Amino acid sequence: MFLNIHTHIPEGVGSIFNVVIEKDAVPLHKPYSIGIHPWYIGEETKMLQALEIELNHNAPYCLFIGECGLDKLKGANELLQLQVFKSQILLSERFEKPMLIHCVKGYAEIQQLKKELHPHQAWVIHGFNKNKQLANQLIKQGFYLSFGAHLLTSTKLQDALLHTPLDFVFFETDAQTKVTILEIYTFAAELLGIELDFLKNKIEENLWTITGWKGQSS
Ligand SMILES: [Zn+2]
Repeated sequence: MFLNIHTHIPEGVGSIFNVVIEKDAVPLHKPYSIGIHPWYIGEETKMLQALEIELNHNAPYCLFIGECGLDKLKGANELLQLQVFKSQILLSERFEKPMLIHCVKGYAEIQQLKKELHPHQAWVIHGFNKNKQLANQLIKQGFYLSFGAHLLTSTKLQDALLHTPLDFVFFETDAQTKVTILEIYTFAAELLGIELDFLKNKIEENLWTITGWKGQSS
């Protein structure tokens, strides 16, 4: 399968559907991530309770907490975003689910939190769209980076991917529908000068490393 680590569009095999609490239904037989998105924080106590209830079901298809994180350009006020993000970090550790992180202009805070908290669970930055310097910093701190459709058009991002060890890479389509996950893999394999099949297997292996999930046999 060509693993698509983050999408808002229910798709076929190999994609992880993102469930936004109070907005999306939890899929029954498909892997998903679930969390409180910084754009949609309402009554935070109620939302955190709802998330905890979902996690308590111990659903085998729930692979990640998220997307959650910090967005300084959109959504709830910064303090509330930070508080809700921290609560989700605690849930991630308690339920042993890695984090899928949305980050807009909040890298300093998120890097600081990782330093302070030393989480056991993996933290994946979804839709990474910055330069190789930041990519390097994040990798050194043990973050994983997920690359989306911007990879096809941004030379800065292509450069970042070229400088990121494959052990820390994922790919995604997120909310856009113009570029398929296969196109992103094909482009990345060409850029990296490796076989498409090798890349596909490597990314699947990365998912196994951080979630224990081996994919669906269909
Ligand atoms: Zn998203």
